[in-house]
Amino acid sequence: MKYDVVVVGGRIGGSSASIFASRNGAEVLMIEKNQEIGTPVQCAEATSSRTFKTLEIEPSPQYIRSEIKGADIYAPDGTHGHLEGGYAEGYILERKVFDKQLAIEAAKAGTEIMVKTRVKNLLKKDGQVCGVVAKHMGRSIEIKADVVIAADGVESKVAQMAGLNTNQTPKTLGSCAQYEMVGLKTDPHYLKFYFGQKIAPKGYAWIFPKGDNVANVGVGIRSNTETAYYYLKKFTSSMDATPVELNVGGVPVSGPVEKTYTDGLMIVGDAAGQVEPFTGGGVHITAHCGRVAGEVAAKAVEREDYSGNFLKKYEKQWKNEIGKDLKESLKYRKILDKLSDEEINILAQFLKKQDLKSISKMSMLGFVKEYPQFLKLLKDIL
Ligand SMILES: Cc1cc2nc3c(=O)[nH]c(=O)nc-3n(C[C@H](O)[C@H](O)[C@H](O)COP(=O)(O)OP(=O)(O)OC[C@H]3O[C@@H](n4cnc5c(N)ncnc54)[C@H](O)[C@@H]3O)c2cc1C
Repeated sequence: MKYDVVVVGGRIGGSSASIFASRNGAEVLMIEKNQEIGTPVQCAEATSSRTFKTLEIEPSPQYIRSEIKGADIYAPDGTHGHLEGGYAEGYILERKVFDKQLAIEAAKAGTEIMVKTRVKNLLKKDGQVCGVVAKHMGRSIEIKADVVIAADGVESKVAQMAGLNTNQTPKTLGSCAQYEMVGLKTDPHYLKFYFGQKIAPKGYAWIFPKGDNVANVGVGIRSNTETAYYYLKKFTSSMDATPVELNVGGVPVSGPVEKTYTDGLMIVGDAAGQVEPFTGGGVHITAHCGRVAGEVAAKAVEREDYSGNFLKKYEKQWKNEIGKDLKESLKYRKILDKLSDEEINILAQFLKKQDLKSISKMSMLGFVKEYPQFLKLLKDIL
């Protein structure tokens, strides 16, 4: 078997890369280890309109559970801030449907897909990746490819087989646990975020509504004393609602891996650490980077140049387009790590009184005079 491009992983990263490699003329095979694309879900399912623009698809009622108009944010003492529109706008997806629909889009663009097929190894020639060894229904298959795209998620093994360092540790990962709950009376158009060391150490808890009193309720933490599941149980213990699904998973929240390409291979999405470190949001970034990787792969095929020297165009482009946002987001995550509950409360009370778009120098000066420990932090934020 021989393809121009083999994509490993069949969710957002894999499908977006496949769609754009296929549309640009490459012969593509996408390989997914699970029997069905889109399950099990490991996501709170929030995304912004950027995802649809990037993928050139319409936000369809087929996979949109709720349209989000804003967000409510709670400090540990209950101080509450409300955001309307702007960055807080977006959608709650039904990812089981969305991910499969993206794979259908890839197939329509010409991608062949193998499910229940696990990539076990890479083929290499003179140090250059030139295909994969996969296992399907107990049978081992060699599949040659000019370019391999590793979109195999946070536990990626494929990039490591190519010699790239994508290793995540408990320190670099956020640990998440989430219920999809039924019976929760919450506004279907607003996200809720809860901060505090007792609720979600070095992270936050969320309620993302899916309409009809159904919501994703979860916690993401960075702590090794108790598990995310422990905090989830605690957070939901007083809710008059019942779970119909439990998801647990890790999110790479420490910025992208050092190098996202090598001879014959590119890495995309969670496998490359392409996630906003502060929010843990990876859907729109993965779609973006998947698209860039797919387009660069197709160009490499056209030029018959699969070297790392050519594929580095991928890294250059995604860094140019979203690298700065990821760096900023990491800065905010590091700030949050350092704040005590009391400091979060003080900051929330200050921000609540301000018009966030135009915090005046005078009000900042007054605040810092009263609480000098925030001087560096406010300098960083503003
Ligand atoms: C609990 C939780 C909540 C989240 N909530 C949000 C949110 O609300 N909004 C948001 O934007 N982001 C969220 N994220 C992050 C987001 O889900 C990910 O960033 C995004 O799904 C990454 O997509 P991906 O395609 O890179 O990887 P994945 O979705 O992990 O897909 C990788 C695929 O590769 C397959 N695979 C792995 N190894 C192999 C192999 N050897 N052979 C074949 N196939 C293989 C896997 O089966 C899987 O289907 C959340 C993450 C978690 C854990």
